[in-house]
Amino acid sequence: MTQLVEFVDVANMARWIQRDGVENIISGMMKYLESDFARWERFDKIPRVASHTPFGVIELMPTSDMETYSFKYVNGHPSNPGRGFQTVTAFGLLADVDNGYPLFLAEMTLLTALRTAAVSAMVAKTLARPDSTHMALIGAGSQSEFQALGFRAALGIEKLSVYDVDPAATEKFCRNLEPLGFSIHVATTVDEAVADADIITTCTADKAQNTVLKDSQVRPGVHINAVGGDCPGKTELESSILDRSTVFVEFPPQTRIEGEIQQKDPDFPVVEFWQVLTGGQPGRTSPDEITLFDSVGFAISDFSALRYVRDATAGTDLQTFVDLIAEPEDPKDLFSLIKVGVPV
Ligand code: NAD
Repeated sequence: MTQLVEFVDVANMARWIQRDGVENIISGMMKYLESDFARWERFDKIPRVASHTPFGVIELMPTSDMETYSFKYVNGHPSNPGRGFQTVTAFGLLADVDNGYPLFLAEMTLLTALRTAAVSAMVAKTLARPDSTHMALIGAGSQSEFQALGFRAALGIEKLSVYDVDPAATEKFCRNLEPLGFSIHVATTVDEAVADADIITTCTADKAQNTVLKDSQVRPGVHINAVGGDCPGKTELESSILDRSTVFVEFPPQTRIEGEIQQKDPDFPVVEFWQVLTGGQPGRTSPDEITLFDSVGFAISDFSALRYVRDATAGTDLQTFVDLIAEPEDPKDLFSLIKVGVPV
């Protein structure tokens, strides 16, 4: 009997998000993330495997908790939107560690936007000042609406300022979010966007060491959610911001290669966020402290996101099935699947 692999394609991922709502999903996913981050030490962890070219990067992100294995395939091509393609696309898989068989396959372009927002929101819920009401977003591309909805789900943020070098992107951002009840100020400079913000999210795409946010623009007490610097040679923050901040990361060996801290020495001090969740390290220690989440996206978050979507769609028509495992009746007779001599 052939074992079929459960599958959520793009259309069904979109239907699921429409059915349950972005904010509900991000809240539900945060619970899965928190429970997986709390057992961080049980996971097999390596920095993701990256293949760099002048066009962008293609990465594989594996992990395992010794019962379930997962990987995500993801690309990052900042010049893609100019050619009519997405900057980031992804798909991923869960497999059974016991026999190595794949179990669940999903599109992960939408799912990555949800999981990135859920991770950012989980971290900000712990680190941002509890009286935060206003977030500035620098970069209004594909991830931006998900980030905004994640922060509303986790922290109740409804007041946004947005800045993007592309006015069409900010227009799209307002068109998508204003009907959902956000109050949005479209800023013409970064200075204007961040002036009164309690939280600053940087979410731009450019394969360059940019200064999207300057040190002089960062006030005491701010939480910075730095999402766009996630690849060697691709950063967003002026390096001196890191010196004034407490820097929180996912998996240090990967963040030192890919995150904002690639600008610093290999022993630059960072706090692993999972240790804040489990009480081993303090989070924010004063209202004036600048907390900085140097987000790059780690495999355990994708593991949690895949687990969540699998459970949330189980037994519904949001899942279809893919015949991905060649499984002859006699496990030693793979050749039997080819009906030699029988016309096809
Ligand atoms: P996108 O291309 O859809 O949007 C990026 C936006 O940034 C564009 O609208 C662009 O005009 C704007 N921009 C570029 N340079 C700017 C600047 N100097 N100032 C202001 N705006 C600027 O990309 P996306 O899918 O939204 O992804 C955004 C970034 O987040 C990418 O760099 C991507 O690699 C990264 N990302 C990180 C994670 C993570 O886990 N940390 C996950 C997904 C994506």
